[in-house]
Parts: sequence; C-alpha cells; structure tokens
Amino acid sequence: MTRLLIIGAPGAGKGTQAERLSASFGIPAISTGDIFRHNVKNETELGKQAKAFMDRGEYVPDSLTNDLVRDRLAQSDAQAGFLLDGYPRTLDQVNELDDILASHGKSLDAVVLLTADTDEVVRRLLGRAIEQGRADDTEEVIRRRLEVYAEQTAPLVDLYQARGLVVAIDGLGEVAEVTDRILAGLAAVGVQA
Ligand code: ADP
Repeated sequence: MTRLLIIGAPGAGKGTQAERLSASFGIPAISTGDIFRHNVKNETELGKQAKAFMDRGEYVPDSLTNDLVRDRLAQSDAQAGFLLDGYPRTLDQVNELDDILASHGKSLDAVVLLTADTDEVVRRLLGRAIEQGRADDTEEVIRRRLEVYAEQTAPLVDLYQARGLVVAIDGLGEVAEVTDRILAGLAAVGVQA
C-alpha cells in the first residue's frame, strides 16, 4: 500500500514518470490534468467548465478539482494505494487531501519532487506542442503555467518538506535513468516498489 505524490513544474516529466512508477508499484497513476483533458474532449459539464481555465494556463477552481479527486480516490482501485500526479497544486487542495486521507485513517508515504530548469521545461513543452498539439502548449500559455506553478504550487514543497516527505530527484536525463533515480530515492526512505 503505497501512497505517493509527484510534484514538479509543467514539463518536468511528471506524467511520463508517473506511468512508470504506477507500473513498478502496481498502483493507479491519477493525473488531474489527464482527467480534465478527457472531460474537455468528451464535452462533459466538468470539461466545459474546466476548458476556459486550462486554455489560459490558469488552474481550474479548487471546488471542481477537489470534488473530482475525492470521487476518484473513493474508487476501488485506489484503495490499495495511488500516485497522484498534478494534485494537490494549491494550499486548499493540500487541506482537502489531508482531510480525505485522515477520514480513512491513511497518510502519504512520500512526495517525489521532480526538478528541471526553466529553459529545459520550456524546450520540452514546445516540443510536445508540435507532437501532441495540446491546446495549452503555446509559448504564451506555457509562460503563464510556469508563473502559476511558481506562485501557487512551488510553496507546497516547503510544506511537505516540513513534514519530512519530500524526495527531490533531478528530472534531467534519459527517461529510464530518471525512473531509476526515483526508485532509488524512494527506497532510501523506506518506500519499496
Ligand atoms: P502540466 O504538467 O503541464 O502542468 P497537467 O496535465 O498536469 O499539465 O495540467 C494541465 C492543466 O489542467 C493545468 O494547467 C490546469 O489548468 C489543469 N489542472 C490540472 N490539475 C489541476 C489541479 N490540481 N488544480 C487545478 N487545475 C489543474
């Protein structure tokens, strides 16, 4: 039963690593960004509400995001553990997650902080724009997403650091190499795949 978060700037490689860690630990990788994109694509009510924020590089309001995560974590596959990718991103979301876990008598095992410098993340995101055509991968929106991350999400790292949960990993290098680093970093604090 492993409960993990992966945190990092847009373009740090969270999604890629989350999939690989999910396989190693046998737990679902839950990406709020993927869930929102899925809803936008299917033109659900949630998707319609989220789209305007996402297209501008702003965060979807906490009220929508928190409800979504509460529902997702209540599903049966998440009872044996999970890896949250892209949540929590605000202080309000941290409080909500604390609340959800506490109500089940559970807690987080570790928070993986994936680091990458700004030039590298912008380069990756612009590359992905060409490959995947994501609506929020234009240069202007990327800049906004990085600002929002620095303002609202980077401070959460200090909070989790104070709880002794953060395992900081250099996100530069080959995908498999970064995964090995994360697995080694987690094993060093007693979180075994
Ligand atoms: P990235 O890794 O580039 O930040 P994500 O796929 O994680 O991309 O998220 C894409 C967009 O989805 C965000 O810019 C935001 O609009 C929305 N989103 C995802 N997760 C959250 C969240 N926890 N709170 C608010 N908005 C979110």
